[in-house]
Amino acid sequence: MNQPALYPCFLGPYGENDQLLESLVVEFLRDHVYWRRNLHPEDLPAIPTGANRRPDYIEFESRLRRELHLLSAALKRSVPFHSPRYLGHMVSDLLIPGLAAQMLALPYNPNNVSADAAPITIDLELKAGLQLAAMLGWPADPAHDDCAFGHLTSGGTLANLQGLRLALALKAFPVALRAAGVPLPGVPDEDWEAFNTGPAVATALFAAWCDWRDALAPRERQGWQRRVDAQRIETLGLSDFLDRHPQLSTPCVFAPATAHYSWSKGMKMLGLGRAQLALIPGQAMRLDVDALQEALDDCLRLRQPVLMAVGVLGSTEFGTIDPLDRLADARDGMQARGLGFSLHLDAAWGGYLASLFRNADGGLRTRDEVGAGFREFPRPEVHRAFAAIPRMDSVTIDPHKLGYLPYGSGAFLCRDQRAIGLLAEDADYVFDGAPATDFFQRHRQLGRYIPEGSKPGANAAAVYVTHRVLPLDHGNFGRLQAQGILAAEAFMDEARGFIARIAPLATVAVPFAPDCNLVCLAMNPQGNRDVARMNRFMRGLHDALRASPEQPLQRGEYFGSMTTLRPEAMGAEDTARVLAALGLEADALDDGGEDRDRIVVLRHTLMNPFLLDAGGAGGGYLRGYFDYLERLVGAALAQEARAA
Ligand SMILES: *Cc1c(COP(=O)(O)O)cnc(C)c1O
Repeated sequence: MNQPALYPCFLGPYGENDQLLESLVVEFLRDHVYWRRNLHPEDLPAIPTGANRRPDYIEFESRLRRELHLLSAALKRSVPFHSPRYLGHMVSDLLIPGLAAQMLALPYNPNNVSADAAPITIDLELKAGLQLAAMLGWPADPAHDDCAFGHLTSGGTLANLQGLRLALALKAFPVALRAAGVPLPGVPDEDWEAFNTGPAVATALFAAWCDWRDALAPRERQGWQRRVDAQRIETLGLSDFLDRHPQLSTPCVFAPATAHYSWSKGMKMLGLGRAQLALIPGQAMRLDVDALQEALDDCLRLRQPVLMAVGVLGSTEFGTIDPLDRLADARDGMQARGLGFSLHLDAAWGGYLASLFRNADGGLRTRDEVGAGFREFPRPEVHRAFAAIPRMDSVTIDPHKLGYLPYGSGAFLCRDQRAIGLLAEDADYVFDGAPATDFFQRHRQLGRYIPEGSKPGANAAAVYVTHRVLPLDHGNFGRLQAQGILAAEAFMDEARGFIARIAPLATVAVPFAPDCNLVCLAMNPQGNRDVARMNRFMRGLHDALRASPEQPLQRGEYFGSMTTLRPEAMGAEDTARVLAALGLEADALDDGGEDRDRIVVLRHTLMNPFLLDAGGAGGGYLRGYFDYLERLVGAALAQEARAA
């Protein structure tokens, strides 16, 4: 079942590729050492030959070794993410290209805050942004003015924050231009209109303003820059900005009920307030666009400004994919009616699945082409969603999730590079002299835009090199993504058998059919009507599926994760459906405490590249997992019966 193309990609469950990784690490560590020696070979060594025979040296080394041994021993109790027995969170084995590139770059310690501190890896970061943009279907030729732009972040959380920051800057900038009296054609002459131009018009206005300003004599240029800066929301703060513009009020953000909690964090960090984040209930955990449309109509009627609407491509809990084409239609419709706002796609999880939809020449593959080899993937709605990604204004993608790279690598992308200058800490014109026209020259001072300051260039090297070795199209990176989809199909097959076998003991349901490679299982002991008991039972199962640092790792046969279904997020219809599927009464959920207000489910992330290997005891890892689960259910019920 494994694809030979994946054989060299990972260290492997058994460390099969130990020699490959070891030779790379040793070779490039030596290479780094030679680089040091060759800088100025005429300099005498600062650490004398023989220093390693000094007693204090020896003492230092033994302390060092002791601590490293302790660390190494302690880490043996880590969660075995690399193993096909691990079906828990959104993490798996690491791609050797990324791991090797990151280790290679680490001793050079580049800081991608600016080109001064990272002459090489800054450009790799900008190129990685373009590689991801091309995968999404955005213009990615840096020779063009309206090329997309992307940079890395510590993770999806900060990329989402960056999305909010950029949307707010774009929303408020035309208001500042108007307030400063900049004599540019196209500046709206009413605040409401200026606050609602939508991101494309706002980007064009910002670009026009930059051109106009840069053509002025230096003194005049500075005067206008100061006047505009003084009116910007970033200068005034939300409260003073709104005081000056009584037509306007705090804009709200719409996100689906499945949205990751980073959206709540972002609203708090920006000072917009959690209350301005409106979660739209879903249909089977996908955004209900009709419900969103109603909310948007209300906003227009009540003159409530909207900052952005968020779509999710691969929800964190269920791997569901929102109808992005319909979301974009709704946005276009509202824009035409005078309520402009940004569209952000949270593809932290599912972003790399887009590689399955791309030909090597960058063209979009048809649904039939993508679906060859899969049973249902991609459903027509899912294909339409991927085809609609280019209509988004900004996107979050996590290389440290389905990019199989080490932690510390998220990515933020925006549709039009000209917008990002709005986030700059200083004026967008170049510090000394002519404005930068070259894409790389223009964006190299990354520290001006990003939420972080200093940040690892080694991660950028890892992302870039990985995308070069495994280009982001279906024949390369897509093969890896295909394994996840196949694993989800195989999981569903095994689940059907399990559901039938376990029926005398428990009622089992897959609450939401997955769109990609996350599958949840809900279970209720046979005949049970009490949600609290069901959840206790499920938490017990999850305890047995956890990598516990208190016991040897080998005691755990398989590893999983859990999440909870809440009626607020599911909506009435799905709540009723799921309860019925579990043999529970329609009113079984209540918020009377004691774990009765939600349904605990087991959550499985199917991303291990070797999950379909026959190596797992008897019939492969998935069969083995369900056998184990069957034994756990039996044992848990027997224990319950003894306790009663
Ligand atoms: C994981 C995830 C995030 C947060 O990303 P981090 O890298 O953990 O900060 C945001 N949104 C979605 C949909 C995610 O799956």
